[in-house]
Amino acid sequence: MAKAPVLTPRADDFPRWYQDLITKAELADNGPVRGTMVIRPYGYGLWERMQQDMDARIKETGTQNAYFPLLIPQSYLAREADHVDGFAPELAVVTHGGGKELEEPAVVRPTSEMIVNASFSKWVQSYRDLPLLINQWGNVVRWELRPRLFLRTTEFLWQEGHTAHATYEEARDFAARIQRHVYADFMENTLAMDVVLGRKTVKERFAGAVNTLTLEGMMGDGKALQLGTSHELGQNFAKAFNTRFLSKEGTEELVWQTSWGSTTRMIGALVMMHGDDDGLRIPPRLAAVQAVVLAVKGDDPVLAKVREIGDRLKAAGVRVQVDGRTDLPFGRRAVDWELKGVPVRIEVGPRDLESGTAMLARRIPGDTSRTESGGGKEPVAIDSLAGLLPTVLEEDQALLLRQSRERRESRTAEVSTIEEAVEAATSGGWARIPWADLGAEGEAKLAEHAVTVRCLVAEDGSIPESEDAPGNVAVVARAY
Ligand code: AMP
Repeated sequence: MAKAPVLTPRADDFPRWYQDLITKAELADNGPVRGTMVIRPYGYGLWERMQQDMDARIKETGTQNAYFPLLIPQSYLAREADHVDGFAPELAVVTHGGGKELEEPAVVRPTSEMIVNASFSKWVQSYRDLPLLINQWGNVVRWELRPRLFLRTTEFLWQEGHTAHATYEEARDFAARIQRHVYADFMENTLAMDVVLGRKTVKERFAGAVNTLTLEGMMGDGKALQLGTSHELGQNFAKAFNTRFLSKEGTEELVWQTSWGSTTRMIGALVMMHGDDDGLRIPPRLAAVQAVVLAVKGDDPVLAKVREIGDRLKAAGVRVQVDGRTDLPFGRRAVDWELKGVPVRIEVGPRDLESGTAMLARRIPGDTSRTESGGGKEPVAIDSLAGLLPTVLEEDQALLLRQSRERRESRTAEVSTIEEAVEAATSGGWARIPWADLGAEGEAKLAEHAVTVRCLVAEDGSIPESEDAPGNVAVVARAY
């Protein structure tokens, strides 16, 4: 008999499955103010692992971390017209402090271009101060109308990079470098997520930017999710804050800037891209726990053996946790580790001790090797585990990426009319349509069906030079 589902099956109700998984895998809860989120330890652990990996990549580009205030004078926002128009509807404004009405209200940062530029204009004097490369890890608040845990919360955690350069080309190349070598590389190689890198249309651009680069991923239901953005800001904010430098030639110039951000939304993407009807599937390179060694039943020799296996795996470089909680039913613990998506379980019972073997249960290919009795498990000699696991984990990492790539490729239609694009995007997939056949007018028509241009890509996979570069293809989808 098949076991009763722990989660609402994805095919029945994908949003409900997502919500169930977040709750049962103990990732997050709703906060008391609508749209806010409590990130539970297991969810926060994923964020910490993401932070560590991304932080190292960001620092490799020569960028340094700093911290700017949460509260921004309201008047700063008004200095860049597009920026204020874009963010005004989402702002939380502090009007009172210490029991008194404030002379000037303060805005809770929705992003930090403004307050960062107030400092940059002081820090930058000459070309020798450039490039100025700063990153901040923090929280921001955007008053979202359609909140959803991780994907779109009112307060979210992120990193935001802010840079100033001497030339347009340098700023443009830096924004692209972040998008490709920090974000895309991290998402593919650590998160095992297939992503499409492209440029936003004018309509979808960040408020105040002259160009926005994006990474779009296909979720398990065929919808798109924007996973990280990098903006060329031109000189818009430099003008607003008079951020100038003395060039080598002795002339006064405005700096060229970029900004770029990625958020706790990536945890939601991880769930929606890799999760299955049994729960999460954490890519091994991200997982804080790559293998859990479980004592099936609790007598001393079994507990001693799981600890010994744990030590041997640790020595082999595997991030391992021993589960000796034999006062809890084994089945319940196994289901819980499945829900939490730990890549590998090693199960040891009294009979296994005699044979010198353990059961190896792999979470990631689990669906395909699953048997009626509920597990794609195989017995493995205990002595071979430490040699075997690093290979198994790398195989599983590659498999996850391959599965997400195959999903996108098989569910993306090449089309040439708006009707076909809408049809593909409203039936669980994406469409690719030449931008020349769509254009801003076609983009407006798509919007009537809640379909958007996720990004423009060049024929050869490079980032398009401009919105109207010949050969541009629009990637079109419904999005979260
Ligand atoms: P932006 O500063 O608007 O370019 O946003 C940076 C990144 O944050 C985007 O690429 C989104 O993936 C993500 N993001 C935007 N709004 C939210 C939100 N409310 N909750 C979580 N992530 C968000």
